[in-house]
Amino acid sequence: APYQQVDVRELLDSTLTMLRRKIGEKVRVVTDYDPDLPPIPVYAAELNQVWTNLIVNALYAMGGTGTLTVRTGRVNGDALVEIGDTGPGIPEENLSRIFTPFFTTKPVGEGTGLGLDISWRIVADRHRGDIQVSSRPGDTRFQVRLPLTEAAA
Ligand code: ADP
Ligand code: MG
Repeated sequence: APYQQVDVRELLDSTLTMLRRKIGEKVRVVTDYDPDLPPIPVYAAELNQVWTNLIVNALYAMGGTGTLTVRTGRVNGDALVEIGDTGPGIPEENLSRIFTPFFTTKPVGEGTGLGLDISWRIVADRHRGDIQVSSRPGDTRFQVRLPLTEAAA
């Protein structure tokens, strides 16, 4: 896939539009985009997989009601995208395992446990970024850091 200079907000908005039906009427969606974030070099289709997985995970965790927050900003010269939800959170003992392939807490048939593994590889291996997670009940955030300048393998 070609490496493109892309406005991350457009990727996030198109993912939200694609997921409109799944989001439903009872989840509030809050977007908070940094207007000064420049276009950044990304593999757009792959990053859309990352946003999709993070948002679908957030929706699943909230079980139909709550607030989904999608934020962009900058940190130390990198772009930052944060996907937040008001679901029950990730138990401490699971935090170190969620990026492991096939780790899932979902019933058989509902989760493959591959979403975060794939997302990690897209962000880290393809974009030289990283994903950090912080979680407590009612406030779970996945923070994706992406370099502002070309750095991918
Ligand atoms: P899957 O969605 O197929 O279970 P993922 O790799 O996407 O696989 O996620 C792995 C696990 O991480 C989930 O089963 C869940 O336990 C946990 N998880 C991921 N995102 C969230 C979230 N926003 N809130 C609570 N738990 C989460
Ligand atoms: Mg998933």
